Amino acid sequence: SKAVRLDKFLADAGKGTRSEVKKFIQKGLVQVNGRTVKKPEQKITEEDRVELLGNPVSMAPEFVYYILHKPAGYVSATEDRYDRTVMELIPEARKGMFPVGRLDKDTEGLLLITDDGGLAHELLSPAHHVEKTYFVRVEGTVTEEDRQKLEQGIDIGEKRLTLPAKVQLFPQEDSDREKAELLRRVRTENLPESYTELLLTIREGKFHQVKRMMKAVGKPVIYLKRISMGPLTLPDELKKGEYRPLTEEEVQKLK
Ligand code: URA
Repeated sequence: SKAVRLDKFLADAGKGTRSEVKKFIQKGLVQVNGRTVKKPEQKITEEDRVELLGNPVSMAPEFVYYILHKPAGYVSATEDRYDRTVMELIPEARKGMFPVGRLDKDTEGLLLITDDGGLAHELLSPAHHVEKTYFVRVEGTVTEEDRQKLEQGIDIGEKRLTLPAKVQLFPQEDSDREKAELLRRVRTENLPESYTELLLTIREGKFHQVKRMMKAVGKPVIYLKRISMGPLTLPDELKKGEYRPLTEEEVQKLK
């Protein structure tokens, strides 16, 4: 396994800046395999047992993965001159982390944040056709004809039609009147007279793709939320603005 300097090991493990941890080492606060080590340049491997003030320090994982429930109002970037970025929602993010793909500033939902460039590349590569499912609310009534166009491929002003997609329409009115009334109240205020809600699953990621697809059938998007990407689904318990590390199992499924 790969060897790193003791000071880098401690800094990577989040114990302080490189110069802070150097001082800890020089003051004799750090033990390796039970012995005090005062040389910051000493090499450490996964087999070594490192302690700081008697507390075990484990090696930082090679890559870190978070799933974020992006709220509207944040841009999917690591830095921006004018807007808040999704990275500001993850104070513990380490250097080199970035959002995998982009959701528009006004789009909510599942965003993967990682420093694993290889995985990001796989997920974003057009050749891999990773499925992304969006909850979409549009103005107007989506007809059966619209549904077929969206599913078969539609002209959004690119060289080619969009790839086949899946559409699942939700009935606007629930047959149970009381439930329909309740739904209406919990839904966003300012709903237009007529709107349609649907799930749209696409296998590519052109700029503003969902909005452009819906516009192509004359039904502008008024609300958009990504609910899944590949094997990942936005967990119910994750509120807007919240995030959590992926589980071991979720990371395995992604690879
Ligand atoms: N399609 C869009 O139009 N916007 C998004 O944020 C994601 C997909």
